Amino acid sequence: MLPYQDPHHPGNSAEHHTGKLCLWRCGRPAGTAWGPLLCFHCNVQRMDKLTDRFKLLEEHMERIAAGP
Ligand SMILES: [Zn+2]
Repeated sequence: MLPYQDPHHPGNSAEHHTGKLCLWRCGRPAGTAWGPLLCFHCNVQRMDKLTDRFKLLEEHMERIAAGP
């Protein structure tokens, strides 16, 4: 499990809550160490998607580096 996926990680503690609600309108309090706009649950979804995109980009770059 990565830190952003761990509900008990200090980065996901109430200390990071901004007092506003999550931007994705799930009704949960917004604010984690990874961003002030989303709650923990939505941030995990966002970060998982980013991780997937970076993996795709990495594979693409490796194919280019390997040449024709
Ligand atoms: Zn949310």
